[in-house]
Amino acid sequence: MSEATKAVVKDVTTMASPVSLKFRARAGKDLSRFLRGMKERRIVGRVCPSCNYVYVPPRGACPTCGCPMGDERVLPETGTITTFCIVNIPFEGQKLKPPYVCASVLLDGADVALFHLVGGCDVNEVRMGMRVRAEWVDEADAELSLETIRYFVPTGEPDRPLAQIREHI
Ligand SMILES: [Zn+2]
Repeated sequence: MSEATKAVVKDVTTMASPVSLKFRARAGKDLSRFLRGMKERRIVGRVCPSCNYVYVPPRGACPTCGCPMGDERVLPETGTITTFCIVNIPFEGQKLKPPYVCASVLLDGADVALFHLVGGCDVNEVRMGMRVRAEWVDEADAELSLETIRYFVPTGEPDRPLAQIREHI
């Protein structure tokens, strides 16, 4: 190996290797009903008949009890941020310009948090326990997608005490 080649090899610390993967995912029965509800601005979860946990998006079976889920339950568009992160790093295919906030939102009446975006405030104002509500896209732009909710915005209500949401974090 020549001295020139050694110098080049020594300086290589990363290598870009573009990868592309195209695929289609098919929503099952429960997720399809959930997505149709979203298009109509209804957030639909399902209740486990054994532990009474409310899951949103709904699942076919309770991951804790293993039993088939029971009745549907329409949830309000308000909730509480349990955890969140501020995205500061740009990456390939990113739809939003950093910084922005991704958060787990525990909808009122639900037992499992929904992962979504937070907007309508400075990223540094977002905190655990913050009360938020869904900001929907225009009805004409509504699709069978979780993105029918543009993001969650602060309601201005007092924060929910962490002791009340601890078991959902
Ligand atoms: Zn259960």
